[in-house]
Amino acid sequence: MRRPLIAANWKMHMTLADAGELAQSVVEGCRAVRDVDIILAPPFTALARVRKEVSDSSIGLGAQDLYWEEKGAFTGEVSPGMLKDAGCDYVIVAHSERRQLFGETDKSANRKVIAALTNDLMPILCVGETDAERDRGVTYVVVDRQVKEALKDVAEAQLDKLVVAYEPIWAIGTGRTATPAQAEEVHQSIRGQLAKLFSADAADKVRILYGGSVKPDNVDDLMAEADIDGALVGGASLKTESFNRICGFQRRT
Ligand code: PEP
Repeated sequence: MRRPLIAANWKMHMTLADAGELAQSVVEGCRAVRDVDIILAPPFTALARVRKEVSDSSIGLGAQDLYWEEKGAFTGEVSPGMLKDAGCDYVIVAHSERRQLFGETDKSANRKVIAALTNDLMPILCVGETDAERDRGVTYVVVDRQVKEALKDVAEAQLDKLVVAYEPIWAIGTGRTATPAQAEEVHQSIRGQLAKLFSADAADKVRILYGGSVKPDNVDDLMAEADIDGALVGGASLKTESFNRICGFQRRT
């Protein structure tokens, strides 16, 4: 059984005071949530503040990006070791905003995944097609390529630390959620691709999150799908009530 994971991507939001307040209310509101991993990924500037708030809880800490070098003249970048030092267990890699706005590629995603894994950080590798790619019927071609390229030279034994997030770009921040069936089809295909690249056993252990306008009113249906193991949540993670409700999603049997 894969343990569900709900991850908050706060993107470029939150002052220190806001971050502290929101983290505190997630800690309070999610105390009763059992058997779900919950992580908060604030901007770099708020990592220490959020760490303080979550330190006595089961809530984990994630970063939104990393650079693959350990140290050096890389102005503006943050290394895997720095993230570990800041208390992170997870790091989001190759979010579509990084691919679209900051020129990240499958190759840089690969270097980041490897850097995270070798530094004991769990990468949340983001993949997903654009609206135009879905219309052209190449969703699976695009997602297969993104998964394959990002996992080049990753060893099967490292797969239990990998998380994949399927985030159709047309659903991010748009209010247009993929239907549970649409998401499940792609999740199954990603798991099939992992089985081909590694083994069915290893693929079975990888958590595949869905991201793209996840909200309190659609999370239960999404989480009812067999291959949807959690959610990467943007907009709805910025409000306590909505994020806490998402973390406390209702399980169907
Ligand atoms: C995201 O940024 O990863 C995301 C899924 O955003 P939203 O939930 O706002 O669509």
